[in-house]
Amino acid sequence: MAKHIFVIGGVLSSLGKGIASASIGFLLQKMGYKVAMQKLDPYLNVDPGTMSPFQHGEVFVTEDGAETDLDLGHYERFTGLATNRNSNTTSGVIYENVIKKERKGEYLGKTVQVIPHVTNEIKRFIKKLAVDNDIVITEIGGTVGDIESLPFLEAVRQFRLEVGYENSMFIFLSYVPYIPTAGEVKTKPTQHSAYKLREIGIQPDILLCRCEKELDEEIKQKIALFTNVSEKNVFSAIDVDCVYEIPKIYFDDGMQSRICQHLRIEERNVDFSRWDTFLNNIKNPQDGNIKIAICGKYIEHKDAYKSVVESLYHAAAWNNVKLYIKWIDSEAQYTSQEYHSLLNDVDAILVPGGFGIRGIDGKIEIVKYARTNKIPFLGICLGMQVASIEFAKNVCNIEDAYSSEFNENCKNPVIALMPDQKYIDDIGGSMRLGAYPCKLTPDSLAFSIYKQENITERHRHRYEFNNKYRDIFEKHGMKFSGTSPDDLLIEIIEIDNHPFYLGVQYHPEFKSNPENPHPIFSAFIKAAKNN
Ligand code: GLN
Repeated sequence: MAKHIFVIGGVLSSLGKGIASASIGFLLQKMGYKVAMQKLDPYLNVDPGTMSPFQHGEVFVTEDGAETDLDLGHYERFTGLATNRNSNTTSGVIYENVIKKERKGEYLGKTVQVIPHVTNEIKRFIKKLAVDNDIVITEIGGTVGDIESLPFLEAVRQFRLEVGYENSMFIFLSYVPYIPTAGEVKTKPTQHSAYKLREIGIQPDILLCRCEKELDEEIKQKIALFTNVSEKNVFSAIDVDCVYEIPKIYFDDGMQSRICQHLRIEERNVDFSRWDTFLNNIKNPQDGNIKIAICGKYIEHKDAYKSVVESLYHAAAWNNVKLYIKWIDSEAQYTSQEYHSLLNDVDAILVPGGFGIRGIDGKIEIVKYARTNKIPFLGICLGMQVASIEFAKNVCNIEDAYSSEFNENCKNPVIALMPDQKYIDDIGGSMRLGAYPCKLTPDSLAFSIYKQENITERHRHRYEFNNKYRDIFEKHGMKFSGTSPDDLLIEIIEIDNHPFYLGVQYHPEFKSNPENPHPIFSAFIKAAKNN
């Protein structure tokens, strides 16, 4: 029977529940347990696919094509394990399922209620992940006291009753602020939040207190007394410079022992060797600094590019360089001259994914700058599409080249919807979502990076390179070094006589982690370093 850990947040949002859950996942996974992680989101959207990155940050895409919360990215990066469609659900899905069942008459005329029908649906979802896994870690979105998260908390309260104490554990992430005018930390918000949790029948087993500095014993005793948690189970979760330090901090504090004792599982060795090398490289890089420009329209909300940024850090660490990111607002309508002065101190340029016409002209200028000045360039998804438009305009002299995403009636849609749509997934409307195979051309930059002919990468887009323009592009020196195995879809573009120019229709950033940086990012950073 799988053991369950529930991670619940109190006091306020943004305490880093995702990272805390991922760090616990890391420790258990490294002990050799089969771990699965999931996030329950209290909002009513069916998935985050249609939510604005300005508000919600990145949409993380799983291998099987689910558009999910960005916390799943943390889970994958910390555990190295792939999540899937069953790793994220929302109140929207839960209620949708209950209502569908009601319409089909599955409740046999009973009054359909939050308890037990909605809570049963939630428990059913949690149990899905328990199959073939030793430990399921379930993070509950939102903060204790929110109306929205109540059904989830009620469901996990019932869950404990069903599976028993030693098969379930509640970890409560709270906040202990330091108040400068009083010159001390305050435990009251944590006390009240824990009362609130107990009010709904959940007694936390472990308390993780976010704080600026390590809490002293006296404070921990006080928190333990008021929250009814054993003092040994009250941990400080201090602010850190780099989130990847957190598993080690938990480990040094002995959290794994407390978890193993509670769940009655064997405490095994945790091998930190590769992780430590990575951390050491991040903190003390030996080969200098590099500066990478990321050009996008969501730069005010950097979480929108979470996986891209993390992938750059992973690759920088293994290249032994310190990474600086220069954010360039593609919507700012700079002149070419201004772009030149903005970009002349960067070692490489990355244009990430995105949707819609806003900022496109700026991106075209930026890609032109990278191509003509021979600055290492990586275009991801929309970035690759913009690179194609730029190449069409400025190299192939197709003046009105564009994407039909930005102008349905444009005369030369070098990026367009595929006529037969055979690759399209139902979920997410007409998007190509999730992992798709790609065949690489030998003797290409792409092949030299992956060192194999067949790869799979994750996608999230509607539009594709328009095959009508293949010949003219090739005539002008564009190489299509990666295509779908049936050769219908262009997956990778590159050009010769450039230190590094690569556009990929997929999102390599979803498959990078600190122990195994993605080869594209490694090669890109290496090119930046040599620039
Ligand atoms: N907007 C583009 C498309 O739908 C690119 C999407 C992306 O960058 N993820 O094809």
